[in-house]
Amino acid sequence: MKQHQTGWWHWLKGFMFRHIPAMISCREFENFVIDYLDGELNSRQQQRFESHLRMCRECREYLQAYKRSIDIDRAVCTMDDEAVPENVPEELIRAILEARKND
Ligand SMILES: [Zn+2]
Repeated sequence: MKQHQTGWWHWLKGFMFRHIPAMISCREFENFVIDYLDGELNSRQQQRFESHLRMCRECREYLQAYKRSIDIDRAVCTMDDEAVPENVPEELIRAILEARKND
């Protein structure tokens, strides 16, 4: 059932992207995320970005996860306990620190 719903949603999105020229694809969306957060999209790009965001749950979740990872990364980077977002599992912070060590 779940698989069926996902397939249908993918079909619908594909349909929209083909027939609504202003739509951007999920791949383009990902490319826009960094610029969007930096406030570097022009107004037209931002409009397209935000309309995709409204229609696409996957990208909303992607953006949220992305923002969250930036917050955590920044907090770990500055080693400021106050800046660590609430409810972040300690294992995750340890994993990030571990990953930095290996850079
Ligand atoms: Zn999307």
